[in-house]
Amino acid sequence: MDLTQHIRTIPDFPKPGILFYDISTLLAHPKAWRSCVDQLAETVRTWKPDLLVGIESRGFLTAAPLALELNLGFAMVRKQGKLPGQTVSHVYELEYGTDTVEIQSDAIQPGQRIVVLDDLLATGGTMSAAIELIEKVGGIVAGVACIIELNGLGGRDEMTVPFHSLIQYD
Ligand code: IMP
Repeated sequence: MDLTQHIRTIPDFPKPGILFYDISTLLAHPKAWRSCVDQLAETVRTWKPDLLVGIESRGFLTAAPLALELNLGFAMVRKQGKLPGQTVSHVYELEYGTDTVEIQSDAIQPGQRIVVLDDLLATGGTMSAAIELIEKVGGIVAGVACIIELNGLGGRDEMTVPFHSLIQYD
């Protein structure tokens, strides 16, 4: 199924000049959403993961149904201060300043094969930070995948592990 007709673009969000790719319309259409999860599953299962990780917040929506489909557990990478209990953090550079991602200390066992999901890859900064965080706690990132990839921002070239996207926009 062609998923592109279920993705809406919203100009000037969150800032003037930015075109936002919105998956709300995909999530609202059960047949298209089911197809999206199935299409991701096809590639993700070849990486033989032990556990799926989703990046806050639309990565949760992407990873959680896929984890159920593949009969795998699911763990969250979140912004700083959102996860209870012991956490491990990773600080990464933004264009201006830094940001921090966290995971619960016991979410990943050393040596586990992890696949990371998000809705969209742009510069790749968010995904790279999640990969580095998972490697810090001893996980092996077997691959990363997104529904949407924005070409021309160099995100794919930043990936240090196998990467797959379902839809690409120039
Ligand atoms: P990156 O770090 O530049 O690759 O940006 C990707 C992150 O920003 C992901 O977590 C996305 O959810 C979010 N993001 C950036 N642009 C968009 C968009 O157009 N639609 C939805 N999410 C976006």
